[in-house]
Amino acid sequence: MKFGGTSMAGIERIREVASRVAGEVARGNEVAVVVSAMAGETDRLVGFAHAASPLADRAEYDVVVASGEQITAGLLAIALQAAGVPARSWLGWQLAVATTGAHSTARIEAVDTSAVLASMAAGSVAVVPGFQGVGPDGRVTTLGRGGSDTSAVALAAALHADRCDIYTDVDGVYTTDPRIVPRARKLKRITYEEMLELASVGAKVLQTRSVELAMKEKVRVQVLSSFIPAGNDPEPGTMVVDEDEHVEQELIAGVAYNRNEAKITVAGVPDKPGVVAAIFGALADAQVNVDMIVQNIAYVAGTTDVTFTVPRTELALSEDVLAKAKGNIGYASVTSDAAVAKISVVGVGMRSHAGVAVTMFRALGDRGINIQAITTSEIKVSVLIAEEYTELAVRVLHTAYGLDAT
Ligand code: ASP
Ligand code: MG
Repeated sequence: MKFGGTSMAGIERIREVASRVAGEVARGNEVAVVVSAMAGETDRLVGFAHAASPLADRAEYDVVVASGEQITAGLLAIALQAAGVPARSWLGWQLAVATTGAHSTARIEAVDTSAVLASMAAGSVAVVPGFQGVGPDGRVTTLGRGGSDTSAVALAAALHADRCDIYTDVDGVYTTDPRIVPRARKLKRITYEEMLELASVGAKVLQTRSVELAMKEKVRVQVLSSFIPAGNDPEPGTMVVDEDEHVEQELIAGVAYNRNEAKITVAGVPDKPGVVAAIFGALADAQVNVDMIVQNIAYVAGTTDVTFTVPRTELALSEDVLAKAKGNIGYASVTSDAAVAKISVVGVGMRSHAGVAVTMFRALGDRGINIQAITTSEIKVSVLIAEEYTELAVRVLHTAYGLDAT
């Protein structure tokens, strides 16, 4: 069981978490719990570290920011004991959660479960602070913001847990953003791949790395709300599972949007080998992550246009890089548009069904929404449109794919 910051925000909430854990123990389960820091606490700690020095030593930064989870782990163990449930905390270095030495962005390499398994078998709930580990030199590390989801999945994998229940402030994964489409439905099940694609296009419920790890280790992850009382349903939230387990497959799992990209068109570039490499090589050297890429046909003999998207925050940097590389690339002009949105439909069902993309293009076309660029993967179709049509496009597609709740 993993509890996020909102679930751990204050003693009252921690008591509720303790009673939920006690419920699982009463049902005969052996439980390990991974906790986040109280909501807002990590931001506060990061603020302290930066205030002490904007160039804070990363290793000491980790000592500071890892402390939020130490507090909640100890408090939950106390609350469990007070509720009559034997429990103890296991800090990252005690377990140990061995990570790389990359302070503030460490990756988990191994979780030693021998001691914790013995303790759990003896009836004690293990409470483990998320987000933290221990580096090769024995010093405290952290996994990057949002990292406690990954801590939970790694521990579940190492323990060969039946399930990894991730309690958060939403009750599952929805077919789209319910703020845009009130008739969005909660998905009973979603595959790892769909979850990853949805996360990559802006539907953030779990840290992406935790989903990658769950997929690799085949950990069954359940997303559910700690604000809804426990009932009798063993699968009350959304289960993130392997494709084989995903029986009643919908064609489309969800519609996602992303307003964090900007479009750049490099026009009048020579239509010859090596030019595209010159454009994207210059951007890669500047660490700009390019997403959608479209190369148009040469409508003026010998030249072509290349359109692509970059993170909106890196638009100015990208334009600067292209200006400096003009001699090397040899283009006529660069134009850009930050007022764009990427809309994506995701679903493993499209592997075996024709016409999925056409449904999207038709639905948008019928509403007069112009498509500026298209990319596809095996289980995703994304289009770039004017930002002002984001909500309309999401609603129209949600209906077109039959996702609206009845
Ligand atoms: N407390 C850490 C953060 O806020 C880790 C987490 O909650 O996942 O990023
Ligand atoms: Mg989180």
